[in-house]
Formats: sequence, structure tokens, C-alpha cells
Amino acid sequence: MPELPDITVYLEALEQRILGQTLLRVHLASPFILRTFSPPIASLENRPVTSLQRIGKRIVLGFPDDHWLVIHLMIAGRLQWLTANKKGRGAATAASFVFSTGSLALTEAGTQRRASLHVLKGKDALNAHDPGGLETLTCTLSAFSAALTASNHTLKRALTDPRIFSGIGNAYSDEILHHAQLSPVTLTQSLSDEERARLFASVRSVLQLWTARLREEAGREFPSKVTAFHPAMAVHGKFMAPCPRCGTPIQRIRYAENEVNYCPRCQTGGKLLADRSLSRLLKQDWPRTIEEAEARLSARSKFNSVSTPAPVALEEKPDSPPPVASENAVKTGRIRSPKNPQPKTRRRH
Ligand SMILES: [Zn+2]
Repeated sequence: MPELPDITVYLEALEQRILGQTLLRVHLASPFILRTFSPPIASLENRPVTSLQRIGKRIVLGFPDDHWLVIHLMIAGRLQWLTANKKGRGAATAASFVFSTGSLALTEAGTQRRASLHVLKGKDALNAHDPGGLETLTCTLSAFSAALTASNHTLKRALTDPRIFSGIGNAYSDEILHHAQLSPVTLTQSLSDEERARLFASVRSVLQLWTARLREEAGREFPSKVTAFHPAMAVHGKFMAPCPRCGTPIQRIRYAENEVNYCPRCQTGGKLLADRSLSRLLKQDWPRTIEEAEARLSARSKFNSVSTPAPVALEEKPDSPPPVASENAVKTGRIRSPKNPQPKTRRRH
């Protein structure tokens, strides 16, 4: 799912291309993508785009007379900018917005249709689409700490809950926790003042670093490589690849249909987190919002075909028989030697 850095770079590219430009026509490949009936989407035609903004992980186009178009890309939705010289490619186009400068295409890979469009009238209707999470790039440490500790959740859950923090999802939460050297299953209210400050610094640093990196990669072009599994990520999507900080193979916990990637040396004090009991803890701690339910469904379809290696001590082969999982305790294994030769990198995609 495109998160804050991806959405920010999309918005910057859109600003140069459609801000102040008149939307000439809208084409919907399927009526299902449009989740509102009134005002009709045709009411946006022949009107200029007067503003662009991000709400959570949504992109919002403003039109005169308090009209808004909310684009939610969900997991597999992406934007493309098409001109006479540049045609669309790859995933099927679900909707396109024609301007005199070019066309904005919303594509969605796969067969599941989750990306959505909402046409709204009035600020109240727009505000109803804001999950309410704190903007971490502009808030203070005390506001961050208050949001983080308002309830006692795992760090993974707290960071990715759109009602707590805005624009952070599965990918950047993994990167942030690795940067902060904190365990994804540590509970928010158990952090020390120093750890909360470190997490806050890492949230800002990772989101800013990735926004700058994606901006530089796109250059003057429209961003075309938006992915949840960027090759430069430290841990997300890097199962069994060496940690860029210490070389230890990155581990993975699956819970519900989601997953956490972490370095057992940098983040969990050398402990390997057992899959079964940890996944139960995370599952219980997972919100039941529509957005997250949709994320689970998509992840399930994505990972169905991939087998789950049980957590193993680092000296064992990844495909050795799984240990018997404890039903009531988090099993851990010590890393026995920091200087082991690293297992071959395995990528799941
Ligand atoms: Zn490490």
C-alpha cells in the first residue's frame, strides 16, 4: 500500500501537472471503483483542480464549490501519467482523468478491486474520510508520546493504526522499528522516555529519508516505481537477507494475514520470536477497521502460495523441521555466534 513517502511524491508530481488545470473528462472502466452516487462524478468535469492534499494514505483533489475527489489506492492501486508520447502499461486502468496536459490513470494490479474513488461535497464529508491519525512530521515529541501511549499496543500495531498515526503502513513501520532498534512486539506503554524519543526520531528520519529518496528516483518524471518492497529497504520484504547494520539474517513473523520483518540482533536482543505465539499476540492486538480488514484480505491472497518457514536458530537451515511451538509462551532462541556465514538471501517476490 502506498504510504506517506509514496503519496507525498505522487502529490508533488501531480502538482506540476494538474494543479490549476481543468479536468476535461473522467472515464471509469468499472462503475464499482466509484463508491459514491452524489454528487455525480461528471459534476467534476470542466472544473479546475484547485488544491491537492494527502489525508492519511489518500490523495485528495479539490474542485471549486467545495467539491472533492478522494482517491484511495489501497494495496495494489497506482497512478500513471499518460501523454501523447507515453502510453500506459502493466496493470489494468480502473479510471482515467483527462486534462489538456495529459491523462491521470488509476491502475490496479490483480483481480481484487479495492482501490476506490469518492466524490464529496463539503468539508464535513471530506473530514469523515480522515481516520484521524497524528501527522508525525509536524507534531511535537509530547504529542507523539501521548498518541503512542494512549492505549497499550504492540509498536507494530500502534505505528500502522491509521487512527493513531497518519500515513504509516506495513512497509515503513518495519523500517522505522529497525531504525529505532526496537522490537515490533514491545508494548507502547512499556517504553522508556529515551525509547519514545528514539522512536519519534526514527519515524521522522525514515519517512523523510524515503520521501527524499523516492523524489530523487522519480526526478522530473511521474513516479512509476511505487512498490511496498523497495530493494533499498533494510528489513521490509527482506526475509533471510542480511541486516544492513549487523549482517544477521532478517526474520519474519506472520500474524493474521499480515507480517513483520525484523533483525533479531538489532531489535530483539538476540532473540528469535516464535511464530505461532507471537502471531497470536499480534492478531489479538490488530484493529478491526475496514481498512485493515481489506489489507488482511489482500495479504492473504498474496501469500497463499508461499510456505511459512518456522522460526529457527540462525545456525540451522531455514528448511529444517520446525520446533514444537509452545502454546502459552513466546519461544525464543539465542543467536549462538555473531560471525556465522550468512545463509543465502531468499526473496519471496
Ligand atoms: Zn541487525
